[in-house]
Amino acid sequence: MGYDKSIKRRAEQILTERRLSAENAAEKRRKAIFSEIPEAERFERKLSETGIGAARALIKGGDVESALIELKEKNLSLQKEYEELLRIHGYYPSDLESDYFCKICGDKGYYEQDNKTVMCDCLRKAMAEVACEELNKNTPLKLSTFEDFDLKYYSMDIDDKYPCSPYDQMSNILKFCKRYADDFSLESGNIFMCGKTGLGKTHLSLAIANEVIKKGYGVIYAPAPKIVATLEKEHFSNDRSSTDESMFIDCDLLIVDDLGTEFSTQFSKSAIYNLFNERLLSGKPIIINTNCKLTELEELYSQRFISRIRGEATKLEFIGTDVRIVKR
Ligand SMILES: [Zn+2]
Repeated sequence: MGYDKSIKRRAEQILTERRLSAENAAEKRRKAIFSEIPEAERFERKLSETGIGAARALIKGGDVESALIELKEKNLSLQKEYEELLRIHGYYPSDLESDYFCKICGDKGYYEQDNKTVMCDCLRKAMAEVACEELNKNTPLKLSTFEDFDLKYYSMDIDDKYPCSPYDQMSNILKFCKRYADDFSLESGNIFMCGKTGLGKTHLSLAIANEVIKKGYGVIYAPAPKIVATLEKEHFSNDRSSTDESMFIDCDLLIVDDLGTEFSTQFSKSAIYNLFNERLLSGKPIIINTNCKLTELEELYSQRFISRIRGEATKLEFIGTDVRIVKR
């Protein structure tokens, strides 16, 4: 993934903070334990002495092997006694050690494998989080949940346009979205949400975003006009270090709200076209919301393009009366 340097630096900073706080907490615990059990500190000293003894034996030469075996045995029995001492006081040996957030790299972001330095997944994840945070600034990402999606605003009456009531339709959609969020993976399919304004499309897409973020995926939510504006700014600026475009393409889930409300220009059309195309080609999930009628979208983006998107997505048609009106 292409991230700019400032994103990587901030992610590394997050890891450093995690590491220091784990180490500080361990140091505090050690001090508390040593002041409660002074004998513990003596064990620590003895244990480190056996370590020094081993080094000495190596330097000294002679029957190094049996000297080392003897030291090892001494060390093991000391360790056992020490553990027993801690246990009597209600502690575990792990209480003396740093409890790192990432057990693989110890919050360093890198580890050694086959004589090579490898970037740890936790650093990669932190970078994705920083990048998403950056792009989701000023977005009410935390405002919607599945729990506060209220079906009581949808009528149980069937009108002649649809075979089922808005209530039934929306409860099916709610179920679908919950399942989609629960089962989310990079192989999840796309969703195309359509219907008039005020029927809960943004609410349910944000609820999906919340759940998917909790699972540790990088999610970007943005109204189509904002996406176009961001890409436009990037396209026409000289600052080539910015990577919003690649984040729209690379994030685990992209949610495009209000497709069709963007100001239509040659640039906006090709930007949206390219973005969707890239994601469809790479098979990365995308959720598209629109209040527009199909014909309006086709007029904006060509029939072929829109039918391709719809063909590669599950279509959820939101029906009913604008919830904000019903609430009044
Ligand atoms: Zn790690």
